[in-house]
Amino acid sequence: MIIRYPFSAVVGHDDLKLALLLNAVSPAIGGVLVRGEKGTAKSTVVRSLAALLPQVAVVAGCRFSCDPAAPDPSCPDGPHESGLSPQTRPARLVELPVGASEDRVAGSLDLERALTEGVKAFEPGLLAAAHRGVLYVDEVNLLHDHLVDLLLDAAAMGVAHVEREGVSVRHAARFLLVGTMNPEEGELRPQLLDRFGLAVEVRASRDPAERAEVVRRRLAFDAGPAGFAAAYAGGERDLAGRIAAARERLPGVALPDAALRGITAVCAAFDVEGMRADLVMARTAVALAAWEGRDEVTSGDVRTAARLALPHRRRRDPFDDPGHGLDEERLEQALSEADGGPKDGGPDDDGPYDDGPDDDGPGGGGASGGDPADAPPGAGGASGGRAPVSATAPYRTRLLAPEAAGRGGPAGRRGRTTGESGRTVGARTPDGRLRRLHLAATLAAAAPHQRGRGRSGSGLVLRREDLREAVREGRESNLVLFCVDASGSMAARARMRAVKGAVLSLLLDAYQRRDKVGLVTFRGEDATVALPPTSSVELASDRLARLATGGRTPLAAGLRRAERVLAAERLRDPRRRPLLVVVTDGRHTSGPDPVGAAARLAGVASVVVDCEHGPVRLGLAGRLAAALGGTPIRLEELAADHLAAVVRDVRKVA
Ligand SMILES: [Zn+2]
Repeated sequence: MIIRYPFSAVVGHDDLKLALLLNAVSPAIGGVLVRGEKGTAKSTVVRSLAALLPQVAVVAGCRFSCDPAAPDPSCPDGPHESGLSPQTRPARLVELPVGASEDRVAGSLDLERALTEGVKAFEPGLLAAAHRGVLYVDEVNLLHDHLVDLLLDAAAMGVAHVEREGVSVRHAARFLLVGTMNPEEGELRPQLLDRFGLAVEVRASRDPAERAEVVRRRLAFDAGPAGFAAAYAGGERDLAGRIAAARERLPGVALPDAALRGITAVCAAFDVEGMRADLVMARTAVALAAWEGRDEVTSGDVRTAARLALPHRRRRDPFDDPGHGLDEERLEQALSEADGGPKDGGPDDDGPYDDGPDDDGPGGGGASGGDPADAPPGAGGASGGRAPVSATAPYRTRLLAPEAAGRGGPAGRRGRTTGESGRTVGARTPDGRLRRLHLAATLAAAAPHQRGRGRSGSGLVLRREDLREAVREGRESNLVLFCVDASGSMAARARMRAVKGAVLSLLLDAYQRRDKVGLVTFRGEDATVALPPTSSVELASDRLARLATGGRTPLAAGLRRAERVLAAERLRDPRRRPLLVVVTDGRHTSGPDPVGAAARLAGVASVVVDCEHGPVRLGLAGRLAAALGGTPIRLEELAADHLAAVVRDVRKVA
């Protein structure tokens, strides 16, 4: 039996603890998303929650944790007789690993019984295991999108629905969903973000005394977990008792009209989409009143609910950091207006930003000290004294991806993978040991031979050669390394605008697909790493905006620099496959011929975005693509709605 760190021993993290406790009181709030860097003990806090939840009464032997008082009518183990003696067990904490297959999450058909006994038996998955408990997903931002969808659907409906090879099963799946993520490793898509009830940001305390206490307790726990837990047993009992009492109180808590007006005014002021935010805020405020032993929601409850329920729901563009908290002034103003208070501020006082100085001036790292707000755009960047040109508006690009399927890097949305995870996309005769049976295809293969094999009874006559295995396909996230030509031949302003617009669009695409990105640029005599590989697309777009242009074209130097970046990254993050995107017109005017440098990159999947334009074309980018063993694509063909053929044959990776 694992002894977990007690919840009541956690120092600080007040918002996180409150968000978890409120969901424990009222699971209808819809779960918690916890964002924060590594080493902030967010997993420890989440894991310690389950011990505080009331025990659950279950029907003995039911694998779906039916409540004896109200068994699930669709329970696959049912129907249950009434009057069975109930069992009680602790509420569970179920952890969903990032690499989990859909079968593991949603449940699967028991193929052995289906084949040998002709019984359609259902093997419960993690959703069933988590029913009436906590479902915890660490690194939820790295989970495959279709699994996140599945999870959030179940969490919203309280029901899991599984359809597989002609078998359909429904069972209750009500759980407290908690996801943790490190935003540095890629954001959750906004559509998924707002389906979590509450979101909190955690960071390590800046207070030395508090940090010391964290360390002291951790050391004590590691030295003797049992003794440490015993010392906090009283605190744990108190919290558990308070949760149970708040649950009882919850249905009787009143939400006065004034509080409801406050909620809707705040949601309107923050311009959130739909009505989900209003509902979540109302439930949170009610749970908070119950948690504090009150029978009526106060304006303070509404304020706290806003802080927990709104930050991840504000409208934003993809480069906006969802980690920013709420604008407190705006919150207060909305609340006081709902209260019929004074409405101050002029008619055009609607800007959410007060235009304070940026903490990172536009000077390409050169803005040290001075007043960054007054620096001209591009100072310290363009050596020619010209301000960098701005990009055209970003557009949706077609998918650029390695052609060959990978063996499964970090979960994502770009390169194809084959292996254990992902969706079933077909069936094949296994070469070697059968791993994943494809039942429908196996039955179809056996069916025509039944008479010939002398079938008489009800059982299927199955032979080895009938067996078919499922072919699965998933998506991984890649490292997309941009190698961008910023030389004079590219620098006609209109052209450079288009090039920047294209790279910006590809960056947006990388953001949505949770890729890592890096940026190498070359002009004049040399190439520079404008941005080492990172998951922060914001940084990349920022560097791109400041990109200075002009001078000669050291194309070979650019490729060599890209090669070194990729080599270093291969050591640091070996599972992640790279995709090199070279953006150039292919005219080299400085340094050695690029063909040699290109050949050295021939193991890497690559795309050359051909920026050549005008009536006379040299086709140099095409030659470069051939030397790289990559795919050429014209700049104008990059948009997803362009009619040209889909990019294919991005060369396979050895
Ligand atoms: Zn049951």
